Amino acid sequence: MTDCIFCKIIGGEIPSKKVYEDEFVYAFNDLEPQAPVHVLVIPKKHISNVDEIVEEDKELIGHIYLSISKIAKDLGLEKGYRVVVNNKEHGGQSVSHLHFHLLGGRQMTWPAG
Ligand code: 5GP
Ligand code: ZN
Repeated sequence: MTDCIFCKIIGGEIPSKKVYEDEFVYAFNDLEPQAPVHVLVIPKKHISNVDEIVEEDKELIGHIYLSISKIAKDLGLEKGYRVVVNNKEHGGQSVSHLHFHLLGGRQMTWPAG
């Protein structure tokens, strides 16, 4: 999608600090980290939010979670981490390209704000 900042990051038009990439997924450091490790894991396919996921994306979503686990292992997060998807307005989503926050390196608290 042409005016999507995450599509531009995938395309290299906007620079980012890449953490992981494969055929389907791109992962990079968040610009405003909320934890010692704060990686955004995104599908290369533009999907706006959770409600736009369709049947044919089922394998892709599973692949994203396998990638998250691999990235966490590579980053030494064996004590655990949090995966967050902010969805649409009330979910606090600010970028309309589905993304998974991978947060780690400190104790997380609950409930989320
Ligand atoms: P959301 O609020 O939609 O769940 O998360 C969007 C995230 O994208 C935020 O944590 C924000 O810091 C991050 N972000 C927004 N623009 C950029 C950017 O241009 N580069 C990077 N690396 N992160 C961004
Ligand atoms: Zn996009």
